[in-house]
Amino acid sequence: MQIFGDVLRDYRIPAEEIEAHEEMARKNGYSAFLDLNADTSIFKCETDQECLDTRTVKVRDDAPVAGKAIAALSLMNMGLTVRSVVRGSIVFDPPPAEMVLVPGDELVIAGETSSFARSAAFFRTASDSIISPAIRRSPVTQPDSRDVENAIAFKAETGIDTETRIDYLPKADAAICSHLDQIRPVYPSASGCEECLRTGDKWLHLRLCLSCGHVGCCDSSKNKHATSHFHKTDHAVMRSLEAFEDWAWCFKDEEYI
Ligand SMILES: [Zn+2]
Ligand SMILES: [Zn+2]
Ligand SMILES: [Zn+2]
Repeated sequence: MQIFGDVLRDYRIPAEEIEAHEEMARKNGYSAFLDLNADTSIFKCETDQECLDTRTVKVRDDAPVAGKAIAALSLMNMGLTVRSVVRGSIVFDPPPAEMVLVPGDELVIAGETSSFARSAAFFRTASDSIISPAIRRSPVTQPDSRDVENAIAFKAETGIDTETRIDYLPKADAAICSHLDQIRPVYPSASGCEECLRTGDKWLHLRLCLSCGHVGCCDSSKNKHATSHFHKTDHAVMRSLEAFEDWAWCFKDEEYI
């Protein structure tokens, strides 16, 4: 159940919806988990177009999308469509393309899972990342001892924790890398490689995505999750998270910046 909930959270499914899914799974006596071939409503719902591929995203105060017209966002190029916008008690369905987004707007966006990952940085704010680290993820459950151990090891390894905001000042200019505008102040997304923590794998060194704060393992690690994060999201710039290392790398220009 824990893993199930974590996966849905990673796909930005709203909390109420996750609770409903969990409740349904419990009611069915966990049959959905026991027999994967069973035709249960819980799995039917997950593969349903409306259910999995529609996300509700709230525009935060300092999110990059605030103050921009819907048409000016490159959401369409990413394969995402804004289906409706809820502003206070008014629902724009569909919203006019020239509508300028303001903090507090709630957007219902439809598209593929991979497209959502690519657009996440638009909605993330410097002070409050959408991908919250595991410990901050769910205020109702206490972090278990493994989370605490990871956080201590992470701090020892990197000198920072998931509450430390990272502001990287590039040493190169736009002539060397044309992706410097992707760099934002970010919070590390997890106390270690996000994916390796989930699967219980080990890593060698850690890299931090300077667009969204994703923490992934380096290319000398077995799983190379930092590089696969770049391929999945097109976030070009990452920084080393090793203590005493202060360099960043652009995957596209293949330069230190
Ligand atoms: Zn670059
Ligand atoms: Zn990894
Ligand atoms: Zn990223």
